[in-house]
Amino acid sequence: MPTYTYRHLSESPGCDRAPCFEWEQVARDLPLTVCPFCGVPVERELSPSMIKKRNFDCELRDKGFTKLVRVDDGIFENVTRRPGEAKYVDRRKPETLPILEKTIKD
Ligand SMILES: [Zn+2]
Repeated sequence: MPTYTYRHLSESPGCDRAPCFEWEQVARDLPLTVCPFCGVPVERELSPSMIKKRNFDCELRDKGFTKLVRVDDGIFENVTRRPGEAKYVDRRKPETLPILEKTIKD
């Protein structure tokens, strides 16, 4: 059965599968329109090259990695953020650091 990747169209902080998840379905099935886990609207990824690029961070996250991308001096975007984690990590604000305790537990 082919596996498709779906992406949440809006933030869903409470959803374990946000921002993207893989879903097995037969090709003739209609694509999902909402996340089966949280009900937020989702879209199916289309082109394979886009899938590769956009899913890479989700793959990292699912393998337990945390990836921070520097956006400014002392400010990093947490592109593998999990529910409850801040989008931007500010080295002056400890509360924005990734929650490793939760990552390890998951
Ligand atoms: Zn969801």
